[in-house]
Amino acid sequence: MVDRRDDLNPDTLCIHAGQAPDSEFGAVAPPIYQTSTFAFDSAEQGAARFAGTQPGYIYTRMGNPTIRMLEDNLAALEGGAAALATSSGMAAVSTMYFTLLGQGDHLVGSAGMYGPSRLIVERDFSRFGVKSTWVDTGDLEAVKAAWRPDTKLLYVETPTNPTLAVTDIAACARWAHAHGALLAVDNTFLSPVLQQPLKHGADLVLHSVTKFINGHADVVGGVLVFREEALWKRLRAVLFYLGGTMDPHQAWLVLRGTKTLALRVRKAQENAAALAGFLSNHPAVEWVRFPGLETDPAKRALIARQMSGPGSLIAFELKGGLEAGRRLLDGVKLMTLAVSLGGVETLIQHPASMTHAAMTRENRLGAGITDGLVRLSVGCEDAADLLADLKRGLDGLV
Ligand SMILES: *Cc1c(COP(=O)(O)O)cnc(C)c1O
Repeated sequence: MVDRRDDLNPDTLCIHAGQAPDSEFGAVAPPIYQTSTFAFDSAEQGAARFAGTQPGYIYTRMGNPTIRMLEDNLAALEGGAAALATSSGMAAVSTMYFTLLGQGDHLVGSAGMYGPSRLIVERDFSRFGVKSTWVDTGDLEAVKAAWRPDTKLLYVETPTNPTLAVTDIAACARWAHAHGALLAVDNTFLSPVLQQPLKHGADLVLHSVTKFINGHADVVGGVLVFREEALWKRLRAVLFYLGGTMDPHQAWLVLRGTKTLALRVRKAQENAAALAGFLSNHPAVEWVRFPGLETDPAKRALIARQMSGPGSLIAFELKGGLEAGRRLLDGVKLMTLAVSLGGVETLIQHPASMTHAAMTRENRLGAGITDGLVRLSVGCEDAADLLADLKRGLDGLV
């Protein structure tokens, strides 16, 4: 089995890590172990599996060979010790909160964090005495100012959704570790092909597998990847009983996606660079956010250190604000008006009325999400076709 070998590049790991040909018949594609439970050879073996003194599967909520292949694949890609696949990205987020935060604990998070990841803390975990402060984590001074003696977790999304602000993972890891806290990074926006937070000191990485990792807009799923096995064991014990486990068929579908992850991410990134350049020169556009267009030298150096590419998400504000944004969304033909991201098809959406509508307007503006901001998740179509579509939509505005 090809595994966590440092000499293998992401493109190779995507295809091979965690997946040996099946031992029974040599099937090259991973078998789907669509079973809820696993038979024991003897009473003694059953007891030993429960006691953890013998390896082997028991019950699919607590582990399954197809799910394990995906976990090993993603652990290798992130350079982690182990992974846990979950039924959705939010199941990964809530399992993390549930395990790492208790009564009286405080969390510092990125203000522009994926809406529900913030909302569930402010609305639900707060009922159990969990406190939180949300700041621009791209500014380390803001993180320091938000810190309290009872801060247990620093949770960063970089680049941030949808403003694409970049946070220094290594600096956050140093700060969190010096103050007895853990650093978690939501790496959904870049995928392990472009950013590996564990290598910069993060303790755990989360993904909505729904996005780039699966990449085909046909599965909802999540994953947690850990730098060290001890933390994996802690979250695993909670996930098994909390129940947000992935399903074997879901894992098998995602394994089809991981094979082409590196190819898709690079193609989408090339397309995004072309569209970002076009947008930044268009008279109807007020400003464009795309890590590839960053002009601040310190941020450029950070991007070069931490990311191996700008990714394929673009945020931009039209001169005509919200009304112009609406007309653009209705004016494009090839780009699909839908939330989500990271699929092979280009999606366009309006965060203030869609993905971030649950936030208060004040919190949205605090996170840089203006009323007219439009987000593009650029896909793998032909760049010229995408440019023509966007041009048609924008030319109608000036
Ligand atoms: C979509 C998303 C999530 C949530 O994942 P689901 O699979 O929808 O539950 C979390 N973080 C980011 C950055 C996302 O884009």
